[in-house]
This record gives sequence, structure tokens and C-alpha cells, in this order.
Amino acid sequence: MNDPASAQKFLSAKFPDFRFKIGARFSYKYPNTITLGPLEPHYSLLALHEVGHALCGHQNFGTHVERLKIEREAWDKARELAAEFNLKFDDDFAESQLDTYRDWLHTKSKCKKCGLTRYQTSDGHYHCPHCDLV
Ligand SMILES: [Zn+2]
Ligand SMILES: [Zn+2]
Repeated sequence: MNDPASAQKFLSAKFPDFRFKIGARFSYKYPNTITLGPLEPHYSLLALHEVGHALCGHQNFGTHVERLKIEREAWDKARELAAEFNLKFDDDFAESQLDTYRDWLHTKSKCKKCGLTRYQTSDGHYHCPHCDLV
């Protein structure tokens, strides 16, 4: 799994139910399409992460907190798969990927008026516990 073409071949053989495409960035589209991104140092782990999303059957997610949860699940799955395929798993890398979501979530959830952390309702809208109540 050291380059896109061999990863595509390897993963297609292991997971015949999923469709593996080669594209501009790693992504997963419900229910069974996985796009393999360009070559980079953690290539196989990023590929397994997307397989993780597919195996968990992740669909759309209402809130960004759920998003963080499914990212965590996909990385847990990637860890299992790495063990199964005798690939080295890099916990620091997985955590740093999750950190980008945490940072993003944090920035996104801050109220621009008062700086308090807002909460998100299932319709996807953010509400400030201070500004939205006065
Ligand atoms: Zn993901
Ligand atoms: Zn506010």
C-alpha cells in the first residue's frame, strides 16, 4: 500500500464490497465509495481511516460534535485494520488528525459577540448561552 495504484489494488481485493477511486483528496461517500488521495507519508493510515468510515457505515452527521465522534471511530477502526494487515499504526498521527477537528470545532463554536462557547442543536445551528437568551 505504498502508492495509490497498489493501495487501490490491495484494498479492492480485501474489501470487494467497496469501490476505491483515486482522487485529489481522501474521502468516503456513503454507502461504499472511497477516494484515495495523493501520496504522502501516512498514506496507508489515511486510506485505512476512510475504510474505517465505510466499515462503520458512517452517513451524514447532524452536529460537529458527532463529527468528532465518527472521526474517532474511524481511527479506532483504522488501528484494528493496521494490526490485521501488519502495518505500523501511528497514534500520534491519528491524534494530530483529531486535534485539527477539535481546534476547528473550538473556533467554530465560539460566539463572535461574547466569546462564550456556543452549543449546536440537531438542525446544525449554533446558539450562544448568553446572547441568544437576552
Ligand atoms: Zn474521517
Ligand atoms: Zn454570545
